[in-house]
Amino acid sequence: MDFRIFKQLPRLIYGPGSIKRALELVPDNINQKTLIIYDSAVEQVVTSEFSNTEKIILIPYNSKKSEPYTYEVAEIIEKYDGIWPDIKAIVGIGGGSTMDMAKGLSVSLANGLNIDQLQGWDIPTKPGIYKIGIPTIFGSGSEASRTAVFHNGVKKQGINSDYSMFDSIIIDPSLSATVPLQQKIYTAMDCYIHCVESLEGTYINQIASGYAEKALDYCDQYFADLQNDELIAVASYYGGVSIVNSEVGICHALSYGLSIELGIRHGLANCIVFNVLDDYYGEYCSIFRAIIEKYEIDLPRLFPDGIEPDVLDRMVKQTLLMERPLENALGSSWRDKLNREQIEQIYLKM
Ligand code: NAD
Ligand code: ZN
Repeated sequence: MDFRIFKQLPRLIYGPGSIKRALELVPDNINQKTLIIYDSAVEQVVTSEFSNTEKIILIPYNSKKSEPYTYEVAEIIEKYDGIWPDIKAIVGIGGGSTMDMAKGLSVSLANGLNIDQLQGWDIPTKPGIYKIGIPTIFGSGSEASRTAVFHNGVKKQGINSDYSMFDSIIIDPSLSATVPLQQKIYTAMDCYIHCVESLEGTYINQIASGYAEKALDYCDQYFADLQNDELIAVASYYGGVSIVNSEVGICHALSYGLSIELGIRHGLANCIVFNVLDDYYGEYCSIFRAIIEKYEIDLPRLFPDGIEPDVLDRMVKQTLLMERPLENALGSSWRDKLNREQIEQIYLKM
């Protein structure tokens, strides 16, 4: 397969404490404003670094309730009606959910379209408002990726576009100090799984494999004792870069079904799915289980009594929407290798 041309992330500041330098990344335009959307869980850090001023507008985002929905972006745009012409930069500070909200605001405003109209492949035609990503929990790789993922009540899908990529990011490993252990592992496992899906996929190439292999090495070191957040902070970014230059795989295709139908959050949903994918990812699943057991993470058994047919049907439909991940996992003839019944059988193991 020809290597697809993808934008790479242009600007990055790295290091513990580097959140202090966020405003250095804002393009210089003295008459305009910066909007910071941040996860409410990191309110203390954010309000100690930035204050609401004439030039800075702070918006808290509650990511605890659910993954981002398309309507939430429209609500914020409406609520803050009037400020948008003066906004020159949007900063997202939080996990994948909050960073995706920042990306969604940027792309939706610049294109004059709702998120629902932008979900899919390469739909936006205009670059978004200048955007800066600052992860506060590590693994999603949203800081590096060219997608912003939203639910709309029927499906979960990304705005996959060069314009969904941040213009600058800050990787500050100190920001995840307050994340509870279980959540740290779920999100870190997202990174581990990105790397496995990239390496084992048919889109793999020398650039993607270099990043994924190093990220897996850092994940292994990180999972040994969970002491060094620098390892997972950089692994998350490298895993994201690997995916930018390849694609996720079958675990993500199936996990979106769990998120859309049961509201299970991305990190945990991926763990539940990966746990039953030995036929596809072999030894990587054994390593995954050893880590999960070491930290006494109980993965729930979702369907001990089977699955309602309409629920199963909707999960399978969501999975089949994920054409590129499935093609990456199984090749261009993936439809001959993974039919509806086989997808149902995998869900029934969970
Ligand atoms: P998240 O953003 O959903 O946050 C998970 C939890 O961690 C939340 O309760 C949040 O409040 C809390 N949290 C975050 N930072 C914290 C901190 N420093 N201290 C204490 N608590 C903190 O989690 P995530 O796993 O990073 O992201 C998952 C979301 O990202 C999903 O919506 C998923 O679809 C999306 N995603 C996007 C991409 C992409 O490339 N755009 C990639 C993977 C996942
Ligand atoms: Zn993921």
